[in-house]
Amino acid sequence: MTQFATLVEDILFSLEYVAGAHRLPGWDASLTREVVQQFARFAEAEVAPADEASDREGCRFEDGRVRMPVGLVRAYRAYVEQGWPALELPEAAGGQAVCGAVAGAITEIFAGASHSLQQVVGLVPGAARTLLRFGSEAQQAKWLPRLASGEWLATMALTEPGAGSDLSGIRTKGRHVDGGWTVEGEKIFISGGDQDLTPRILHLVLARTGNAASGVKGLSLFLVASHDDDGNRQPITVGRIEEKLGLHASPTCQMLFDHAPAELLGTDGGGLAAMFTMMNRARLDVALQGVAHAARASRIAAAYAATRRQGRAPGQAGAAVLDAHADVRRMIDEAEALAIGGRALSHVALVEMDLDERPELVDFLTPVSKFACTEAGIRAVNLGIQVLGGYGYLREYRVEQALRDARITAIYEGTNGIHALTLATRLLRNADGAAATAFAAFLASEGAGEALATWQAARERMLAAPDAAKAAHAFMLLTVDAALSAVWLRLERNAAHAPDPERLLRLARLQRAVLPARLRYHADLMAIALTARAGMGPVA
Ligand SMILES: Cc1cc2nc3c(=O)[nH]c(=O)nc-3n(C[C@H](O)[C@H](O)[C@H](O)COP(=O)(O)OP(=O)(O)OC[C@H]3O[C@@H](n4cnc5c(N)ncnc54)[C@H](O)[C@@H]3O)c2cc1C
Repeated sequence: MTQFATLVEDILFSLEYVAGAHRLPGWDASLTREVVQQFARFAEAEVAPADEASDREGCRFEDGRVRMPVGLVRAYRAYVEQGWPALELPEAAGGQAVCGAVAGAITEIFAGASHSLQQVVGLVPGAARTLLRFGSEAQQAKWLPRLASGEWLATMALTEPGAGSDLSGIRTKGRHVDGGWTVEGEKIFISGGDQDLTPRILHLVLARTGNAASGVKGLSLFLVASHDDDGNRQPITVGRIEEKLGLHASPTCQMLFDHAPAELLGTDGGGLAAMFTMMNRARLDVALQGVAHAARASRIAAAYAATRRQGRAPGQAGAAVLDAHADVRRMIDEAEALAIGGRALSHVALVEMDLDERPELVDFLTPVSKFACTEAGIRAVNLGIQVLGGYGYLREYRVEQALRDARITAIYEGTNGIHALTLATRLLRNADGAAATAFAAFLASEGAGEALATWQAARERMLAAPDAAKAAHAFMLLTVDAALSAVWLRLERNAAHAPDPERLLRLARLQRAVLPARLRYHADLMAIALTARAGMGPVA
């Protein structure tokens, strides 16, 4: 088994030199280094060692309450004692107000140590941001310190049996009653809907306040506390926790809200807009979960392949180490490039989000990063298993757990199919294509001329197509290639600052050769999908 070790230098290089985090107001490189190193030490010592046993132990559902694996309860206690819940929260609420870019670095480290724990705990900053943007002063004063203290965790409760990708199907009702609101209905798949890490939970619930036909315009966002101010439990029950492929240490709850007292957050009917504040960053966090899996899998694969001996290789006497074989090197290189490219792409998006100068570019890069990095995580973990051969399929090296855990990232926070559809429709067309134009400008400013030309031609074809949805997947793949082309040029230009410049330059040269071919391939698939005759069905 390979010990979990954080790639602190790789992360800092990517943030500072590739994403240009120094442009952020008040950026402090040495403080960032200190925070990231300190969190890495915490994750390595307190979180990662508990993750394997927690995966085996899983969550239990006893007497209507959820019990988390004991190792994660201990790890969370240490997380609170060291003050980590307050990291991203405003100073006025007792927080340290680090920017999103630094928080993103922490997300990758945390998810690499335990995706399950990070996923349950990691909803707090999004809830805090939503409170800051849409909450009244009284709501902020009441809830932010509670979240900063680590005594409360937060959930994001959207999904229902009839409302998954399409939230217009939400039936949970928000009712105006004397002196406030109540929420009534069923939510499913709610991560951390109950847990015993914290005594209290703040649920952010999307519920219908308009009539049944009001679609997403009739949705409002509510704060629903698990307990009232006197410590009494509110009428919120967990019906069951789901059995699932991975994330065994993260409880996925079916929840019933039975006229639970609630506070409206933001305006009546403004629920979706408020929820998007939480979701946009959450999507980049999910992207970073993908990066965390890719980075960990490529590291395990490289370490294993450097020592295991099988077969003969040209120029080597005796049995060769695995990484002397071209096919094994191919897999290790690809897995590592997926981690480095994905990390750089999501860091670029995070820094742009913090800068808030080009919101259209952030709108565009968010779904592209979510898609690119989650698919990268799954692919890299799969490659990791292949490099280890039979041992990869066994539990011992824990890449099999990584495959089980990573798989969800392509499904939650909007399925990758829905993100591809959004890109191909709304983001190409809305506001005269402002988001797409911002992306084209980004490609141009990075000197990714060939990628830009191919992408612009594809953009025109998609705009002219009567049914762009048929080619949405291929167009997303092509867009990911274009984004990575730009990002790898940045990586190459800044390679001198990387922890291992030679290795980075070698991978960058490889990407320079591979990405144009992939762009052409995906452009061809897109064209086939667009011109597919009736009866053939969508392709690619
Ligand atoms: C482990 C886990 C944790 C989760 N945590 C949370 C949570 O904390 N809070 C929460 O609210 N939800 C949570 N979810 C729910 C998750 O966000 C949904 O599963 C996801 O949004 C997809 O919805 P669905 O499962 O109903 O799939 P569907 O919407 O039924 O989609 C099924 C398939 O059809 C495709 N599809 C659907 N509609 C379209 C369309 N219009 N065009 C093209 N393709 C389409 C999708 O891309 C997908 O491939 C979680 C789920 C899991 C499994």
